Amino acid sequence: MDLSRIPLILAPTPVHRLDRLSMELGLDLWIKRDDLTGFAMGGNKGRKLEYLLAEAIHQGAETVVTCGSTQSNFVRQLGTACAMLGLHCVAAVMELPYAAAYGKPSSEHAGFGGNLILDHIVGVELHRFPNDDWEVLYDHAEHLAIRAEERGQRVYRIPVGGSSGLGGFAFAKAAEELGGDFDCVVTPCSSGSTHAGLAYGFHGTKTRVIGVACDPEPDIMEDLVRVAHEIDDLTGQGVRLREEDFDFRLDWAGEAYGIPSAEGIEATRRLAVTEGIFLDPVYTAKGFAGLLGLAEAGELSGRVVFWHTGGLPALFAHE
Ligand SMILES: *Cc1c(COP(=O)(O)O)cnc(C)c1O
Repeated sequence: MDLSRIPLILAPTPVHRLDRLSMELGLDLWIKRDDLTGFAMGGNKGRKLEYLLAEAIHQGAETVVTCGSTQSNFVRQLGTACAMLGLHCVAAVMELPYAAAYGKPSSEHAGFGGNLILDHIVGVELHRFPNDDWEVLYDHAEHLAIRAEERGQRVYRIPVGGSSGLGGFAFAKAAEELGGDFDCVVTPCSSGSTHAGLAYGFHGTKTRVIGVACDPEPDIMEDLVRVAHEIDDLTGQGVRLREEDFDFRLDWAGEAYGIPSAEGIEATRRLAVTEGIFLDPVYTAKGFAGLLGLAEAGELSGRVVFWHTGGLPALFAHE
């Protein structure tokens, strides 16, 4: 089935074997290059935006409001797409949003350079707030949306990371794009629609999807189930995924969202020196550290593919 879509990325993105690392790990390891979408410096958010912004335009929106971290890859790609489509993009950001329930991170996060430079180039209206809980950030975004409406703007709201049913639907379609050649897909997971969409798309096939959390927040599981149900509401297929349908791992999330982990830094080095491919410190480094850890534990077999979700500008915002 198809929903209305505005083309932004070059699809299909490349998929290729990692020969040297396969040899080292004794694994048949491949990589799906969503870092090479050809849109706004790459990354998984381009797929979601094709559907989200089609809906925004259809609803007659003039302003789009979202939220994220100051180094949000989503805000960078959303802001770029909005500029292209004549929409105004407003974003509420914090350097280090976190969930108070899981502890306050001790480290400081880089708050300049990286994605912020790109947001500035495309004219995102960025509102920076002090570090706090995600819920506080959502409230700030809602407040900005209401303010825009009071100025007479028609507003389209997008949740953090574009993780609505439409965002997830884009990844159910991406599962079709990859096809059935793989036994296992490993993807970083944060706001959830990448993992939820892939799990939905591959449900009932031989391909198992493992999501590696980038935030130490177990309640992401609730988001996975919610997004999968929202995808199902869109497709009408009656595939109601439950918690046990998701293979979601918290072991490589590190101290907090946005704080690089030692394993992630080592995974970044390893992929760069064996295959010439860089990872970002916030998501893909942790995701790939998870893949390496699972391989070491003997949990991966057959043909395995790592979903490279992009995020490279954030490499230049960390020490
Ligand atoms: C947003 C993002 C993710 C996480 O995807 P979700 O759909 O939010 O779980 C992974 N990698 C990169 C580079 C991202 O920007």
